Amino acid sequence: MLAENQRYTEAFDRSALTAAPLTGLAVIACMDARLDVEEALGLRTGDAHIIRNAGGLATDDAVRSLVVSQQLLGTDEVLVIGHTGCGLLGADESALRERLVASTGASVDLGFGAFDDLEASVRRQVERLRSHPWVRRNPIHGLVFEVETGRLREVA
Ligand SMILES: [Zn+2]
Repeated sequence: MLAENQRYTEAFDRSALTAAPLTGLAVIACMDARLDVEEALGLRTGDAHIIRNAGGLATDDAVRSLVVSQQLLGTDEVLVIGHTGCGLLGADESALRERLVASTGASVDLGFGAFDDLEASVRRQVERLRSHPWVRRNPIHGLVFEVETGRLREVA
């Protein structure tokens, strides 16, 4: 990894960028390795804030990052991206919890955000953002990325 970074620094030409994303776009997306947000949307370094977590959920921490993005760095449009084949789609949250309690001996109050309907989940995240008092009333779109085809389709 560090050798790869050495090659990266040799061609690095982004030192003039500021922290404010050039496109004004903030993205909340699942962390799934098959979803390359930059590649799928044609974004380059400096173009957008990309906030990722398991499921692409509008959790309190994702909202925290989005508020920083909007209030301190001026982004004015949001995309929420879920995807087919998500690990949280149909996941058995109580089984996962039991497995963790059994293997660690500790019970922790932490939800995983499993869901049964992908499009409904994306719409729920968009609604949560649209109704959040600290999230700007700018356009917020919900999309599903198809890991089978690379296609993005709008669902909210
Ligand atoms: Zn996922």
